[in-house]
Amino acid sequence: MIPKLAIDAKRTGAELPDEDIRDFLNGFTRGEITDAQMSALAMAICCRGMSDRETATLTDAMMRSGRVLEWDRTTADKHSTGGVGDKLSFIVQPLAAACGVAVPSLVGRSLGFTGGTADKIETIPGCKAALSIDEFRRIVEETGVSMAVQTEEITPADRKLYALRDVTGTVSSIPLIVSSILSKKLAEGAGTLVFDVKCGSGAFMQTREEATALARALVGGARAAGRKASAFVTDMSAPLGYAVGNVNEVAEALAILRGEDSRRGAADEIALSLDLAAEMVSLSLDMPIDDALLLCREKLSGGSAAAKFEEMVAAQGGDLAAFGRLAGKKPFRFALLSPRSGFVTAIDALEAAKCAFRLGAGRGKPGDRIDPVAGVTFEVSRGDKVRAGEPLATLVSSINPDELEGAAASLLGAFAFSDAAPETKSLVIEKIS
Ligand code: URA
Repeated sequence: MIPKLAIDAKRTGAELPDEDIRDFLNGFTRGEITDAQMSALAMAICCRGMSDRETATLTDAMMRSGRVLEWDRTTADKHSTGGVGDKLSFIVQPLAAACGVAVPSLVGRSLGFTGGTADKIETIPGCKAALSIDEFRRIVEETGVSMAVQTEEITPADRKLYALRDVTGTVSSIPLIVSSILSKKLAEGAGTLVFDVKCGSGAFMQTREEATALARALVGGARAAGRKASAFVTDMSAPLGYAVGNVNEVAEALAILRGEDSRRGAADEIALSLDLAAEMVSLSLDMPIDDALLLCREKLSGGSAAAKFEEMVAAQGGDLAAFGRLAGKKPFRFALLSPRSGFVTAIDALEAAKCAFRLGAGRGKPGDRIDPVAGVTFEVSRGDKVRAGEPLATLVSSINPDELEGAAASLLGAFAFSDAAPETKSLVIEKIS
């Protein structure tokens, strides 16, 4: 394979032979193909796309660039493309495990508006997400579920390639996104993959067409790799649930698991959590979806999912009693009050995310410190009726108290009101099975 000829072939729209894709990717991982050459190929892929075969080969080569885990039990995982207030992993993964499916879940940190799943779980004092592969394996084997951050040994090619894509305008290409997401999920070894592809202002994919195309490509790619798979395209125009941040998101998930939360804003995310977990169980155990849903409802309401989460946190060194004390500690807070009476018809997810970021909940560059308690807790949900002067949201920060009032003023722009109640709508826009 001659790199410049492969780049030229892709630039002019040719399909690359499997061998060339593997040689190119492996050469790049070993440092024999330069960053310039890899960036040029990534841009050519962005402009010309890849066939399903090429995407499958690239995915497989990326997966094999590091360790690939194997399990001697039935395994599944859920992957979300990421959204605002998305704490579903803390509910779905333990819930599926409580139903008898082992869940080895490798998760990420984030450069987003809030931390990633790994950052969030590490807000539980003592809870370690940076596990060795052996620790991760032992915890999955003992408790049925673990959430650990991807180590250097998993898909090094993706880490190297993503860093280039990030600075060369080559992130938004379906074959590159699919190979990046799938290679990591395939490397963790889950036999079933259920994707939650978010769509809307707070999501990576803004339109339904883009989200559906990504969902289909992820399902197709996972099946091509021999996994059972399906996807849900779900609404991310408003924050999921009512907490956006880190500590407050884990606290919300914990309250749902423990059945302590009856807020209307939580009903949608409970329904979506049940759909996602039931899909994992149904595909993994060959169980009719209605039976899987019934089983998931029982495990959630009966406290088994909460017990699984608690078991996993303890195995990873976490102290939930200390977390309770942390979640109750909110040094600086500001209540955003409603300027008018009426129904809340929209809460824009992107504005909510920007607000949480401004308060210190996210990191702008690798290594930045996250303020774990910073964030927004919404006091109302879409469809709620409010009176002028009632609280819409509480903003919290422990390091940026001076930002609270200005951030609240901006957050008001996220709300839309009307005299009439908006139509109710499900979070699930489409299911691809
Ligand atoms: N998430 C990933 O892991 N990779 C991408 O390319 C895009 C989103």
